[in-house]
Amino acid sequence: MNIIEIINKKRLKQELTDEEIKYVIDNFLNGEIKDYQMSSLLMAILLNDMTNDEIYSLTKYMADSGEKLDLSPLGDNVVDKHSTGGVGDKTTLIISPIVASCGVKVAKMSGRGLGHTGGTIDKLESIPGFTVNLTEEEFLNQVNKIGVAITSQTENIAIADKKIYALRDVTGTVESIPLIASSIMSKKLASGADIIVLDVKVGSGAFMKNIDDALKLSKLMVKIGNSFNKHVSCIITDMDEPLGLAIGNNLEVIEAVNTLNGNGPKDLVDVCVKLCSKILIKAKLYKSEKEASLAILEHINNGSALKKLKDMFAAQDGDNSPIFDTNLFPKSKYVYEVKSKKKGYITHMDALKLGIASMHMGAGRMKKEDSINYNVGIVLNKKTNDYVNINDCLCYLHMDKIDDNIIKEVYDAFEFGQSQVPLKTIYEEVD
Ligand code: URA
Repeated sequence: MNIIEIINKKRLKQELTDEEIKYVIDNFLNGEIKDYQMSSLLMAILLNDMTNDEIYSLTKYMADSGEKLDLSPLGDNVVDKHSTGGVGDKTTLIISPIVASCGVKVAKMSGRGLGHTGGTIDKLESIPGFTVNLTEEEFLNQVNKIGVAITSQTENIAIADKKIYALRDVTGTVESIPLIASSIMSKKLASGADIIVLDVKVGSGAFMKNIDDALKLSKLMVKIGNSFNKHVSCIITDMDEPLGLAIGNNLEVIEAVNTLNGNGPKDLVDVCVKLCSKILIKAKLYKSEKEASLAILEHINNGSALKKLKDMFAAQDGDNSPIFDTNLFPKSKYVYEVKSKKKGYITHMDALKLGIASMHMGAGRMKKEDSINYNVGIVLNKKTNDYVNINDCLCYLHMDKIDDNIIKEVYDAFEFGQSQVPLKTIYEEVD
């Protein structure tokens, strides 16, 4: 077996065998297969697609390439939730305590943000004192004790995926549905949960720009999961506009706390309730979405979901006093109001442009090694289909430095028209 034969086979649209895929992963990891050869194979895959058998093999060998977590001591009902990434997506901070308060254990490994999308770990690090680097033992003990823990994904999970993803990032081979599906699922398989609920984002601020691709990706990830005896569900949700009102690390934590206090924006609450009910049904706690939704709202209204978040902050050494008074979170130096120069309905607020503007403010990273400012970002005052008059406030910019270019970038993300537009938050479910 050699890599040139394998590249040629894929170039000629022939199916690779399980042994050939194992050979590629093993030898890419040990350095025998060079970056330029792997790039060539990845491009052949991007252009010629993969069969389901090839995808299962690739996922399996990438999952096996690093550490695998054994969550069996925690029982059967352990859930992992994952979002394909977006702007203003703070759902993990809301969903995890809700389902934990309902009795489902959440063992979640998360990542940091890059580019216009935020990462849960950065949001958690905006909480003074919060530790995101739990050892495996601490992670399992905490899930066992309080039902929820969110920790930073270790460097050793699915290491082949990490190495391949770094190459895809610089060789134009990210946008391949089989490669995205196997990359996400290899990490989910290695993370050990039996119930996996995936929020597949679609729209300007997401990887998937249209519903057809989002559906293809979702169906594929569910199939991969099922072939490894995991219960996987996907929900396809909108990322054409930001989710909720807040974009930026501690601003999003504040919105999560408000949502757990029963004061969340409608689109955010809808997505969270949908994801939570999926989890509760998969965990066999409730039979119907209606029953599950009622339980979720009850756990928000009676304060038990918020209490779980407080317990998690305390368990991970975070200062939980801002949960009682969100004014205690550190603040940016300035809050600048962006005012409308037009009157009419807001017909679009571009998630990608707002995500990039918030990154330029310091809330996100352009490069992996960049540091971030936890206190800056955008809080929307209006959403799509709201009517605005001239000088009405569109959003608040939490900034440490007033920057006219950023103000313009933010304003340019808004479009106006004379009538409302069709709008959907949740598109499809794939089980
Ligand atoms: N997220 C991943 O983990 N992998 C991809 O390939 C794309 C998004």
